[in-house]
Formats: sequence, structure tokens, C-alpha cells
Amino acid sequence: MASTSSLMSAVSRRLEGKVALITGGASGIGESTAKVFAHHGAKVVIADIQDELGHSVSQTIGQNNCIYVHCDVTDESQVKNAVDRAVEAFGKLDIMLNNAGVIDDDKPRIIDNEKADFERVMSVNVTGVFLGIKHAARVMIPKRSGSIIATASVSSYIAGANSHAYTCSKHAVVGLTRNAAIELGQFGIRVNCLSPYGVATPMAMASCGVDEAGLENLLNSVANLKGVTLKAEDVANAALFLASEEGRYVSGHNLLIDGGFSIVNPSFQMFQYPDDN
Ligand code: NAD
Repeated sequence: MASTSSLMSAVSRRLEGKVALITGGASGIGESTAKVFAHHGAKVVIADIQDELGHSVSQTIGQNNCIYVHCDVTDESQVKNAVDRAVEAFGKLDIMLNNAGVIDDDKPRIIDNEKADFERVMSVNVTGVFLGIKHAARVMIPKRSGSIIATASVSSYIAGANSHAYTCSKHAVVGLTRNAAIELGQFGIRVNCLSPYGVATPMAMASCGVDEAGLENLLNSVANLKGVTLKAEDVANAALFLASEEGRYVSGHNLLIDGGFSIVNPSFQMFQYPDDN
């Protein structure tokens, strides 16, 4: 008979027996999600272009539970290969997290924006997600189950917080998520996206030119929800919900992880307390 502790761990390990592929898993939100998924019992494939970092994260998680695959998400043959490697190594693919993303320099005047920069952002953030959904669906449809998730952004919902290309790309991820959710629902496959507020990851720090503490101070100063700093682990936990049985009837959803930031209209300040409260 199973011991109480092993029963407890089976209950608390919410992805036991599942196989997950995470693009952009070498750093930031993807790295954190790889660790959370593995902690919850999943076998994880990290797909990224930063090979040294990716290998190092996979070694930290442990060779039996995690492998690293070089994969540029803009190249269809590499995305196909990453999905096939997941199936070869662990027998199937249950969870696909299309998380790899880039941001361009924020040039507020559209006349200063270069077509090449716009296309690079669209290629990674939109085409990369399209290819990830396509090749995950290829192996999930015969199994009649799966959870496909994309990391969008609060810029999928509001405008003016990031560049034209980035905002456009993240809005597109929502459209792709919703369209794919409708098509793949007949096969028992759920498709959702996550939309975090700012998190102090390497990408975000580089784009703002500040360190972790500086970026978190900046983000907290304009956040709606006070007293909490959004961390990569918070996004990973939201991904865990969408990937696990707890999220089994959630599909076509854009889950905002923004502490209410996107619903604030600064023109209305009716809930402002006087300074002495
Ligand atoms: P990050 O730079 O730490 O991680 C992004 C990862 O994507 C890196 O490991 C990078 O090597 C990888 N990547 C980039 N181009 C790739 C390509 N062509 N093929 C494969 N991998 C590639 O940044 P992050 O903040 O963790 O970003 C992860 C996702 O979260 C992105 O989609 C980003 O747009 C989104 N996001 C970030 C924030 C934030 O404030 N950090 C907020 C909302 C959404």
C-alpha cells in the first residue's frame, strides 16, 4: 500500500507522467516554467538558441527529467525536430509552451521604425508560435489530448506600453490562440495564452537598460496591485494551471497576470485615498 507521503506527493505533483516542450526555456519565464513543471513531475524539453544556458538549465533539472534541443522557432524544420525529439525521448507530447520571444528597441515614432526590425519581432513572436502550435498539434491530434500555451503579454490587451511591432505581435498571438482553440477543441486539445505584466528577466532588463532592482522598482511604481512584485515563478504557476488537470475546461483564454494593470483608466481616480490613509 502506498505511504501517506507518496500519496501526498502524487496529489501535489500536478504534471506527473506528462511531457512538456518549452521554447525559450533557457532563460527568464521559460527557465522558471521548466523548473516548476519538472518539480511537478513533468519530463521537460527545453528548446532555445542559447545552447550553453539551455544545457545548463537542463543539467540543473536533471538528465532523466530534462533534455535540451537547439531550436530557432522561426525555422520550421527546427521546430519539427524539437517536437520529434520530445516524442523520441519521452514517448509523447502533452504540453507545448510557445514562450520564445524578442522585443525591439522602442522607437515611439512609427516613421523611425525599420521594416526589418518589425519583421524580426513578428517572425519570432508570431510565426514561432504558429509553428509551435502546428507541430504540437501534429503529434497531439492522434492522441486526442494536449495543452498548448503561448506567452503573450499585457501588450496583447493594451496599447502604448511597448513598441508597435511587439504590441502587434502579442495581439496576433491572442488571435492565433483563439483560432487554434476552435479548430483543435474537437480533438480534446486546449489552446490558451498567458499575458504577464513586466517581469525582470534578461530580455526586459536589457530593453529598459536597468538592473533587476531598478526594473522592479520602476514596474512597481506604475503597477495597480501594490505590495507584490511580479516574478517569473508567478507566470510559471499560471502556466502550470493551464497545463494541468485543474485547467481542463479552459480553452481559447488569454490569462492576464497583471494585477489589474490593464483595466486601470488613469482618467478616473475615484478610488484614490487621501495621503494620510
Ligand atoms: P528572456 O530573454 O529571459 O527569455 C526569452 C528566451 O527566448 C531566451 O532564452 C531566448 O534565447 C529565447 N529566444 C529568442 N529568440 C528565439 C528564437 N528565435 N528561437 C528560440 N528561442 C528564442 O525573456 P522573457 O521575459 O522570459 O521572455 C519570455 C516570453 O515572455 C517572451 O515571449 C516575452 O515576450 C514574454 N513576456 C515577457 C515579459 C517581461 O516583462 N519579461 C512580459 C510579458 C511577456
